[in-house]
Amino acid sequence: MTEPPKLTRNQDLVLGCLQKTGTPMSAYDILGQLKADGIKAPLQVYRALDKLVAAGLAHRLESLNAFVACAGDECHRRGLIAFAICETCGSVEEFADAVIRQRLDGWAEESGFHTHSATVELRGTCAGCTRPH
Ligand SMILES: [Zn+2]
Ligand SMILES: [Zn+2]
Repeated sequence: MTEPPKLTRNQDLVLGCLQKTGTPMSAYDILGQLKADGIKAPLQVYRALDKLVAAGLAHRLESLNAFVACAGDECHRRGLIAFAICETCGSVEEFADAVIRQRLDGWAEESGFHTHSATVELRGTCAGCTRPH
């Protein structure tokens, strides 16, 4: 594991909030949770999220317009990041796949496309919700 980047108090609070919840949260969900800690402006949350996402400590789920804490260190180096989003319970499982990354990189190279970011979001039902009760 590499040295974790130094976080400001706000970044630390926002990351802690995401880690504790474990499910995707919008910036406003986070703001609501952190009011007691003195975070009052949406901008404070957005700034902290920007930094956390850039550092790879949190990820943005485009389809939900929400954020999750990164599930593992160095996920970016292991391949393309994918999220399996359960539409029943709202859980999100993060995994990285080197093969998907290679295929997309191959396509990008052939097409002369410069990829800035790529995330795969799978939507469906998780194992826990599929299992009969
Ligand atoms: Zn991650
Ligand atoms: Zn589920």
